[in-house]
Amino acid sequence: MIIAMRTGATAEEVKRVVEEIAKQRLQSQTLEGQERTVIAVLGKIPDRGYLANHLIAFAGVESAYPIAEPYKLASKGAATQTVTIGEGERALKLGNGRVIIMAGPCSIESEGQLEIIAKEVKMAGASVLRGGAFKPRTAPRNFEGLGYEGLKLLKKMGDKFGLLTITEVMEIGDISLVADFTDILQVGARNAQNYNLLKALGKIRRPVLLKRGMSETFEELLSAAEYILDGGNPNVILCLRGIRTFEPATRNTSDIDGIAVLKEKTHLPIIFDPSHAAGYWQYVPSLSKAAIAAGADGLLIEVHHKPEEALSDGGQSLKPDKFAELMEELRLIARAVGREI
Ligand code: PEP
Ligand code: MN
Repeated sequence: MIIAMRTGATAEEVKRVVEEIAKQRLQSQTLEGQERTVIAVLGKIPDRGYLANHLIAFAGVESAYPIAEPYKLASKGAATQTVTIGEGERALKLGNGRVIIMAGPCSIESEGQLEIIAKEVKMAGASVLRGGAFKPRTAPRNFEGLGYEGLKLLKKMGDKFGLLTITEVMEIGDISLVADFTDILQVGARNAQNYNLLKALGKIRRPVLLKRGMSETFEELLSAAEYILDGGNPNVILCLRGIRTFEPATRNTSDIDGIAVLKEKTHLPIIFDPSHAAGYWQYVPSLSKAAIAAGADGLLIEVHHKPEEALSDGGQSLKPDKFAELMEELRLIARAVGREI
């Protein structure tokens, strides 16, 4: 951590900071510049956030910058590993270079609906079926999903078509139930920093796909992932899904830049969700192609056979024929950047 003293800070003020660092059982080195003094705190700091906040309260201190990242297990330096999804024949690895496509409806609406969509996405080459059973809705009195019935349908269609599955979990109390029915548990943007939920997901071993919050920085996203990792679950997948900005032409503003940034900071696999980033189906193909070219480990795409009748997110869902066309294009892009779908 680097402590910058104010220009004109007195020798007495510098001394008090140095003494305080020693009191915290840490070492320091003082560098006297022409205009100001800088103090480097050396050694392993147990709680950087606390120390930085504590030291800026001292007279003469202008700022305190932690140097190391607040997330250790999520950082690039930690043991690199792939995340295995599912078991047996269907099992696949995420983060080993192969591009994994997850697709399906926003919400599971009925057996017939999920069956048609599952069949189509499987034929087009997806390996994971998505579908919400517990839906977080921005306002009440909208379709909130089929709950338990939806979970059963997701498992049934996953088994029927040989697809792995992903669905959202919103509550701690639902974790073990959802884990019994699906291969990946999704934490949605609205729960991205629900630390009690994240801690509870650290206690299981099923892969967790953690979405970026609508106004979450990359450091906050990685720190949220750290809660799951710290609990003992190493199987964390990050998902970028656009962030809230001033631009109304798209539902969110695509955070494709995050693929490059996160690839530098973490070993965790990165999925891009073009459907929620764009909010309109017309933009989904461009964002999908860009994400693969940028190095995403996979995509999470909403597909519906009758988007105009969908109970949620119809406007951003691709019809199966458009999805199949996109898959062809994605194969070309993947090959061009030395990868396979
Ligand atoms: C979803 O995947 O349907 C969803 C609700 O996504 P998000 O949490 O990114 O809004
Ligand atoms: Mn959705």
